[in-house]
Amino acid sequence: MAILEIIDVPHPTLKMRAKEVAANEINDDLRRFIEDMLETMKEAPGVGLAAPQVNVSKRILVADPSSEDVAYGPMALINPEIIEMSGENCFEEGCLSVPEFRAEIKRSKRVKVRYLDIWGKEQIIEDEGFLAIILQHEIDHLNGITMLDHVSPMKRMMYLKKIKKIQKKEKQAVTS
Ligand SMILES: [Zn+2]
Repeated sequence: MAILEIIDVPHPTLKMRAKEVAANEINDDLRRFIEDMLETMKEAPGVGLAAPQVNVSKRILVADPSSEDVAYGPMALINPEIIEMSGENCFEEGCLSVPEFRAEIKRSKRVKVRYLDIWGKEQIIEDEGFLAIILQHEIDHLNGITMLDHVSPMKRMMYLKKIKKIQKKEKQAVTS
C-alpha cells in the first residue's frame, strides 16, 4: 500500500469533470489504487477522498463516516450518482484539498446514491446524516467542484490570495 500525494486548490485537476470508470477497468490494479486511496484518507486524516484529489481524474471516492456514525465503516464507491435528494442541511465542512479553510455549506439532508462496488456490482446507499454530507462533498469533487465554489466570490478570492502566499513560503522552505 502507498500513501498518495493530495493536491490542493487551485490545481487544474480539481476543476475537471472526472471520467466514468469503464466496467473492464474494475480489476486488481484499480482495487489496489482504491486501497491506496483508503490508506491516504486514513493517514491524512480525513473522512472522505475523491480520486481527483490524488490527481486521478476518475469517478471514484472513498469515505469513512465511522467517527460520527458507527453504522458505517470505510467504503469505496465507483461511478457514484445521486438519484434522489431531499431536505436541507447546513454543516461546517473542511477539505483536504483546501487547507486551512472551513465554511458552512448548504446541502441536501437525505441522498440516495447509486454506484458500483469494487467488484463492479451495482449498489444503492441511502443516508440522511454525516455520510450524506460526505457523499455530496466527494461527488462535487468528481464534477470539478470544491468548497470554494459554494462560498461567495469575495471569500473565495481572499482565500486563494492567502493560500498562494502560504504555498510560496512552503516552496521557499523546501528549496532553501
Ligand atoms: Zn474535499
